[in-house]
Amino acid sequence: MACIFCRIIKGELPSFKIFESDKTLAFLDINPLSHGHTLIIPKHHGVSLTDIPDDSLTEVLSVAKKVALAVKAENWNLLQNNGRLAHQEVDHVHFHVIPKPNEKEGLGVGWPQM
Ligand code: 5GP
Repeated sequence: MACIFCRIIKGELPSFKIFESDKTLAFLDINPLSHGHTLIIPKHHGVSLTDIPDDSLTEVLSVAKKVALAVKAENWNLLQNNGRLAHQEVDHVHFHVIPKPNEKEGLGVGWPQM
């Protein structure tokens, strides 16, 4: 199986898992833009958001909220790219939760504990 995120779901590649259910997996980004940068993926494989059945997406927003609360991020982005021109590098739908550095603590907003 070539898809690296499907291999992460299957446990064939390592990841730092934050949350897992039958439909959804959240894990830390290997090349984080900030501490706590987390990827949330539907387990259903699809390249673009339009490939994913609605019932595989219902949990994503609530998991994004949980991650943001867990890292105590006051300022953060929820980002999802579709297609190379939109900067999609990995061809398995994923949502980024990207906490913004805290002015007092710099990048040290902490790791998600869920
Ligand atoms: P994209 O540009 O496709 O929206 O973002 C892909 C993200 O996946 C990047 O932030 C990149 O660091 C992350 N990534 C790529 N390969 C791996 C991997 O093997 N493990 C993890 N945890 N993240 C990955």
